[in-house]
Amino acid sequence: MILALVIGEAMWAQVVHQVRPNETLGGIARKYGVSVGALQAFNGIANPNLLFVGKKLKIPSSQASEVSYVVKKGDSLGSIASRFGVKVSTLTLVNKITRPDLIRVGQKLIVPLKGGNLKPASSLLSSTVKRSLDGIRPKSGKWKRIVIHHSATPTDDAMNMHRVHKARGMKNGLAYHFVISNGSRKASDGEIFMGGRWKDQLDGGHMKSLTYNRTSIGICLIGNFELRAPTTQQMNSLEGLCEYLMKRCGIRVDQVTTHKILHRNHTKCPGKYFSLPSLVKRISS
Ligand SMILES: [Zn+2]
Repeated sequence: MILALVIGEAMWAQVVHQVRPNETLGGIARKYGVSVGALQAFNGIANPNLLFVGKKLKIPSSQASEVSYVVKKGDSLGSIASRFGVKVSTLTLVNKITRPDLIRVGQKLIVPLKGGNLKPASSLLSSTVKRSLDGIRPKSGKWKRIVIHHSATPTDDAMNMHRVHKARGMKNGLAYHFVISNGSRKASDGEIFMGGRWKDQLDGGHMKSLTYNRTSIGICLIGNFELRAPTTQQMNSLEGLCEYLMKRCGIRVDQVTTHKILHRNHTKCPGKYFSLPSLVKRISS
């Protein structure tokens, strides 16, 4: 399939490369300092492993840091992202998209093409959040997994949850280590709240099992995801936070899980509109 590209004029100072035996798209991309995704997009190559000797490839200018792409029927943000070899989160960030499910045919998207333009996930975290995370030394070997929850309420905030949990008899209050707001009450959308249990490296109170509480980092997203999906900002923050914690605590991507997966017959948390596979795809790419 050929991609319809709208390309800035400066990029048409075109270099053409004729494929020689034993060349790979990756090798050619490296040679010209462009991404494989950009080569694929420019030349309508769906399968980068099928490259014919003698094929003439248009090489995008290595100065080009982005192209604009017009959304066509059948496109999703995910399909566009994988076509260009970028992350969905990069597209949502660069294009300030708040509802990734609501892109429309004819919409013009900016697609960053070069490594320098692609933000690593940890930059999804604000410098303030990153600084406070950096200020805590995780107990070595303690944290084996990350468990994701929802609040199951449309609105709430971490301080209120802290009070409620305390009133329920939890002496350490807020049962989760982190809370990610959906913009309700006083917090802003995607805001990460670090609970006292993370600051003091205490067991969570978010699971039924003592063993899980001892070894699992609990992250709660505000919202009822049985009724609607988390916000884009919440997912961006969750992605950044998970990647940070995985790296810091040595947690593998297959140990990022949900309450429901660990307590199958006991809860629907974090709800049917929370997609673990799409999170995993983002944090493992
Ligand atoms: Zn839960």
